[in-house]
Amino acid sequence: MSKKRVLVVGGVAGGATCAARIRRLYEDCEIVLFEMGSYVSFANCGLPYFIGDVIVEEDKLLVATPALFENRFNIRVCTDTQVMSIDKENRFIRVCDLKTGEQRNEPYHALVLSTGSQSVWPDISGLDLPGVHVLRTIPDSRQIKAQLHKIKRALVMGAGYLGLELAENLKKAGVAVTVLQSSDQVMPSLDKEMAKYIADHLENHGLTLKLASKAVSIKNIGNGCLQVELDTEELIEVDAVMVSVGVKPRAELALEAGLEIGEHGGVRVNEYLQTSDSHIWAVGDVVEVKNVITNEWQLFPLAGPANKQGRLAATDIVRKIFSTIPSVPYRGIQGTTVCGLFGMTVATTGVNEKTLKNCPGIEYEKVYLHPSNHVGYYPGAKPIRIKLLYDARDGKILGAQAIGEAGVARRIDVISTFIQMSGTVYDLEEAELCYAPQFGATKDPVNLAGMIAANHLRGNHPLAKWEQLIDTHTQVAEREDEVDQMLAFIMDDPYSEAQIVDVRTVAEFQRKHIPKAINIPLDSLRDRLGELSVEREIWVVCGVGQRAYNATRILQQHGFRVRNLSGGMQTYAAFEGLN
Ligand code: FAD
Repeated sequence: MSKKRVLVVGGVAGGATCAARIRRLYEDCEIVLFEMGSYVSFANCGLPYFIGDVIVEEDKLLVATPALFENRFNIRVCTDTQVMSIDKENRFIRVCDLKTGEQRNEPYHALVLSTGSQSVWPDISGLDLPGVHVLRTIPDSRQIKAQLHKIKRALVMGAGYLGLELAENLKKAGVAVTVLQSSDQVMPSLDKEMAKYIADHLENHGLTLKLASKAVSIKNIGNGCLQVELDTEELIEVDAVMVSVGVKPRAELALEAGLEIGEHGGVRVNEYLQTSDSHIWAVGDVVEVKNVITNEWQLFPLAGPANKQGRLAATDIVRKIFSTIPSVPYRGIQGTTVCGLFGMTVATTGVNEKTLKNCPGIEYEKVYLHPSNHVGYYPGAKPIRIKLLYDARDGKILGAQAIGEAGVARRIDVISTFIQMSGTVYDLEEAELCYAPQFGATKDPVNLAGMIAANHLRGNHPLAKWEQLIDTHTQVAEREDEVDQMLAFIMDDPYSEAQIVDVRTVAEFQRKHIPKAINIPLDSLRDRLGELSVEREIWVVCGVGQRAYNATRILQQHGFRVRNLSGGMQTYAAFEGLN
């Protein structure tokens, strides 16, 4: 070999980024990209929108072409070429030209694996039938689109972000869509009560949700119709089934080469994305990454991390092989996601409460809030439902989930940035963010989340937890005489003796209230303190938590033991809907 050779396996998010960055850093080496598909650097994230005709021209999905790589970056691209094996001792890979069947060896100084992930197929019969689809590549999307005129009813298996994006686009294309999910919530990356808002929104937009249900078989019943049998014995007839139940790392090459593989089946890499072999790097969906909050290994198959890892691996390769520039370590994964569904944005960062419950070393607290995306007096204000999780000891931010029609991604991006800087709720309350009436508020939703949490930690705003209040069988009583039957308190709960004081107006209270709550509107609270027992703890509730916060301050200063039910009736509605 005259020039040193860098070979990259996989030509999409991580691989293409890595190859281009290596060239930007170092001119004097040979770079070859191998891709077993026919396209490189295509926008797989755009595929659901191509199905729904939001992206009309297929060409728009091609972010870069082999010719561009060749001309601009002097990178040789071999499409339709599969890498079959790695000989790490002798440092060459065996590749197969899928068009001709010819095989050859390609030697390397550095090898990058960005082989991505592959769909998980549920263990059921009938997945090989015509009409059963998966969406991962441009040819997949082409195939679905070509069938669309025949698809009147579709079943989407899997209510993760990809399944739901596909469901939305099918619905917009006029298909009646049923979404099937084995767990009892949509979007498993969210906590259940937050996912409830999305489930309601999807149903309001005409999707049929079948939660806590699994398909057990798919049968062809003629006339292009498929019959899906569920574990509930229900039979659903559709014209197409879209399988989107998850992905797993495409790590066979690495496994067969004897590279270290982690407990989740992904390639293990160090902070420089280097595998257990010092001449091989791996990036993207194929690797396991360390979660910055839990410090646990996990899979996080998303495009942003794949791109960043590709970039960092390139830097490390150039440092190690060509000794030019210093490396930058990968900081680990934080879990920032966003998804748009029928005009609603769902975004997350950090870890959710489900995860924290299984982290014995972390003591966490949480707040709920429902601020508007901008001041209420400026037309078009929309609520953002926010859940913020933070360390109960020092206020370090652990995670956030937000849902709303406007301004959601921006708030999660701010919180995400603070998480990356090891920020606390005290930082959130002080964050100086943009404000003019059409963009936010003088106390931005991010500030408010920080203020509520910081007040809580300082002890001047004690919070009660909804889970302590709501028994799984509780429903809101519409009439007072039903209240006793619908006893709201869990019998063993130390707070079951609490008095629930609803500080909304009489009209609001009459519309709906928590069983056993008494109504003392905030503005008359100071005059009616005598109606409250000093013996029992008081839990205050209002619409979203703000009036209840004011009530909490009044009551605390008058010597009552008091807590605010965080997020008020808006959060109650989400918890209540779970039962
Ligand atoms: P990929 O981009 O999947 O590239 C891997 C490539 O390696 C493939 O093209 C494959 O053909 C090739 N390959 C594998 N093995 C071999 C071999 N032996 N020889 C040669 N070539 C090989 N992420 C987001 O963050 N946001 C989104 O909105 C989003 N939407 C998505 C929508 C869809 C429909 C899909 C499928 C994914 C979406 N993702 C999204 C996920 C994102 O696309 C992936 O996380 C990202 O592409 C991973 O990059 P990667 O380089 O690891 O793998």
